[in-house]
Amino acid sequence: MPIATVNPATGETVRTFEPMGAEAVERCLDDAVRAFAAYRTTGFAERAELLLRAADLLEADNEDIARTMTEEMGKPLAAARAEAAKCVKAMRWYAANAESLLADEVPDAADVRDSGAASVRTRYRPLGVVLAVMPWNFPLWQVVRFAAPALMAGNTGLLKHASNVPQTALYLDGLFERAGYPRGCFQTLLIGSGDVEAVLRDPRVAAATLTGSEPAGRAVAAAAGDEVKKTVLELGGSDPFVVMPSADLERAVKTAVTARVQNNGQSCIAAKRFIVHADVYDEFAERFRTAMAALSVGDPMLEGTEVGPLATERGRADLEELVDDAVAAGAEVLCGGRRPPGLERGWYYEPTVLAGITPGMRIDQEETFGPVATLYRVADLDEAVERANHTPFGLSSNVWTRSEEDVDRFVRDLEAGGIYVNGMTASHPALPFGGVKRSGYGRELSGHGIREFCNVTTVWQA
Ligand code: NAP
Repeated sequence: MPIATVNPATGETVRTFEPMGAEAVERCLDDAVRAFAAYRTTGFAERAELLLRAADLLEADNEDIARTMTEEMGKPLAAARAEAAKCVKAMRWYAANAESLLADEVPDAADVRDSGAASVRTRYRPLGVVLAVMPWNFPLWQVVRFAAPALMAGNTGLLKHASNVPQTALYLDGLFERAGYPRGCFQTLLIGSGDVEAVLRDPRVAAATLTGSEPAGRAVAAAAGDEVKKTVLELGGSDPFVVMPSADLERAVKTAVTARVQNNGQSCIAAKRFIVHADVYDEFAERFRTAMAALSVGDPMLEGTEVGPLATERGRADLEELVDDAVAAGAEVLCGGRRPPGLERGWYYEPTVLAGITPGMRIDQEETFGPVATLYRVADLDEAVERANHTPFGLSSNVWTRSEEDVDRFVRDLEAGGIYVNGMTASHPALPFGGVKRSGYGRELSGHGIREFCNVTTVWQA
């Protein structure tokens, strides 16, 4: 895949970039490891000052970087502005909280009396240079949610961003430099995915984090495993959105639409499978279909647009294949199911609702990365839980009910890294984020996220 900005709203190549050669990558690796040697000894106050400066700069750049993101990957401009603002919030949160999140832990004296120590503590020390392989769908947020905690913990970062968001990737490189970070603390490597393995295997790299697809995650984890290097994987999702009879249907429908089409449907934590109790299925299906069909699809730079194009032509083709396969096997198209008439340029796809999904269809088990929802009718709570878990993924989940009994059951049994009751999954700096099963392992954000790339060190003193 060439490293280039290709506007998904028009299909036009805006700018292409030469990938970095081996010598340039070598220099970055050297700078990163040299920077780590000094940066790891800095205190939290100094690190916070740098990160707060980066946050202020990003806040001032909001409109420009939002437009860049929209041009590169097609998300509606308002969503791009919100993404940049969320990054600022996360940077400020980690600047304020890293020191307490990583404070030394002292065990209860009674628990360690027989260890022979006069004093024992756990110290969270940085690991080193961390390679971040990131996707295009939240091109700022995915990077910042890695970089803010990693830098506050005293690590240095190398970013290999998706090949279709090079301008955002270079913006991030410049942002940390302008904020005053020492050279080498955060660098963008403009390289293709074929060059990732060599960087990962380089002894100067201590660990890696990847957000992206399962094949990419598997490749990075395999090489890292071979080198015995720590990884965090945030992979795909096919989150259930379960609606029980006691749910507030109006709110559930409104949220269902947002949860499905946010970011033009290209979010790992988008609700993708709508599992509805038979008592309310017909009403939910009709209201959901109507609301999905009423969404305005168009140029993401225009203020009123709710759904823009898919980010890549390949992405749209993949989505079309999944829908076509389901329809050929008997799925019912309640709305959408085609390219919107009048939007021939660019990679648009109509918000789509499919019913009558059966086990043989690919869409039943694969992730729909676009504005396509699948509907399932279930008879009771047992079937709802079973259906929700009937997926290789386990990122997050959404359940709608007013029954505490239902909630207890979902919290006990749903195979997911998140359970959102009467709301939709959304990441937040203070809440752990990540999945189980094929959605990956490890956690980002919160105290869990910042400790992933730490050397958890036992200090035993006689
Ligand atoms: P992708 O193709 O896996 O790309 C993600 C990143 O991995 C890109 O930087 C890509 O580089 C790189 N990459 C691809 N193949 C690789 C390989 N074999 N070795 C090393 N690096 C490789 O995914 P995408 O299409 O950009 O993003 C969509 C996927 O990401 C969806 O499955 C979505 O659910 C998932 N996602 C998950 C989360 C989460 O937090 N769990 C968040 C967002 C997205 P190139 O661009 O150069 O190919």
